[in-house]
Amino acid sequence: MTKTFSLLIDGALVAGASDFEVINPATGQAFAHCPKADVDQLEQAIAAAKRAFPAWAARSIEERAGLVDQLADTLEARAGEFASLLTSEQGKPLDQAMYEVMGSVFTLRAFAKMRLETSTLRDEGGNTVIEHRTPLGVVASITPWNFPVILLMNKLGPALVTGNTMVCKPAPTTPLTTLLFGELCAEILPAGVVNMVCDQNELGSLLTAHPDIAKVAFTGSTATGKKVMASAAAGVKRVTLELGGNDAAIVLDDVDPRQVARKVYGGAMTNGGQICVAIKRAYVPEAMYDDFCDELATLANAAIVDDGAKQGTQIGPVQNKMQFDKVSALLEDARVNGKIVAGGAPLDRPGYFIPPTIVRDIPDDAALVREEQFGPVLPVLKYTDIADVVARANDSEYGLGGTVWGRDVERAVEVAKQIDSGTVWVNQYLAIDATIPFRGAKQSGIGGELGQAGLHEYTQAHIVNAVALEDA
Ligand code: NAD
Repeated sequence: MTKTFSLLIDGALVAGASDFEVINPATGQAFAHCPKADVDQLEQAIAAAKRAFPAWAARSIEERAGLVDQLADTLEARAGEFASLLTSEQGKPLDQAMYEVMGSVFTLRAFAKMRLETSTLRDEGGNTVIEHRTPLGVVASITPWNFPVILLMNKLGPALVTGNTMVCKPAPTTPLTTLLFGELCAEILPAGVVNMVCDQNELGSLLTAHPDIAKVAFTGSTATGKKVMASAAAGVKRVTLELGGNDAAIVLDDVDPRQVARKVYGGAMTNGGQICVAIKRAYVPEAMYDDFCDELATLANAAIVDDGAKQGTQIGPVQNKMQFDKVSALLEDARVNGKIVAGGAPLDRPGYFIPPTIVRDIPDDAALVREEQFGPVLPVLKYTDIADVVARANDSEYGLGGTVWGRDVERAVEVAKQIDSGTVWVNQYLAIDATIPFRGAKQSGIGGELGQAGLHEYTQAHIVNAVALEDA
């Protein structure tokens, strides 16, 4: 426990009112302390962001983008330090942690290149109508524990480039990379433009209800997202909600089952399945079902499950004890309702390790199929009819992502078009980048992140409609 972490309030790196332990999920032991903000510090952070807003909004977009670029450069220069801390607090293997950190660098750079357009809607007969975009004010960023770095950048990049100031609150189990990034913000940005506070789930609701917060940019579970939306209603705040998913993979009958099983396995097990758009259920034609399940089981049995800090680890621990217990309970349900062909029980060692688990012959109404497992457990279901499998894929309150796998790409695209979700990938997985909008359908969210549309989410469309005064 060597490094001391600080909150960032009004440009100063400060101690919390108290602190709490951060657990390394690979050991189940505390490895650092996190400063914890009290309500006074939350108020100070919001007040600082409010004070900083007019001057920040008044700068040119080029100037703000230049500072966001500097944040990206500094993050890149310290990528190794960030990746190692990310592995310690989140659990993911070091190479995946590095991928997240470098993805964050690219995300900041992509937003720093974007510009807000001003359009002239009318210019005739002495009447000029101009639409431009203005920043909103203080944005609250609330992030989850699966991708604590990049999900913050998805919000911070567009919020800052468009002229907003921020109060950022990470998840209680992965707060440290956010605070480390706060150190870069303290060096590079004017005081108050970005503030970082940490809690153990006490401050989120105060932040979303606060009258000086103009917008809440939230990524997390659908259950919490509903609370955020209700709380934001009183002030008619803008909200972006990136919520849960239960993405289906539909495998078409013209593929090599073993080749596609390898890709579906990657889509289900990367980050230990703790991705909002992980493949959470796979639908496979009956004729290739056995081959497909066998290949998945072979891959799962061969996986190296270990501490993410160890070279060669493919799957790290589940991030926290609560999620570990939830996934363990789903395993019990799968044991009763389906047939487990790989994995199936938590590892008998310290830390929160669940090996990649493949479950076949499980009914559509089993908890593992209906709920978001958010862990390394994949149910595999069989089908015979395309219209039927599309209906089964769509029979969910969620609508975040999905994948379709087919040799005939046109046919696969036709199936993809019928999936009721924000994004469907064909023959690929997790093809998210900062220039392509990402958003959830149904209870997977409202509004969106990334792309020019994601930039607009941090602005108000503002119309100026002018005519000349007639002669007196
Ligand atoms: P969570 O909803 O438990 O917590 C998310 C954040 O909300 C944390 O910072 C938490 O402290 C805060 N919070 C808790 N109660 C709050 C309240 N009443 N008001 C405001 N904030 C509050 O989610 P989690 O368990 O950390 O993350 C996992 C979930 O996130 C999964 O459902 C996953 O699918 C989802 N997720 C979605 C996306 C996406 O882009 N759609 C991306 C990643 C994760």
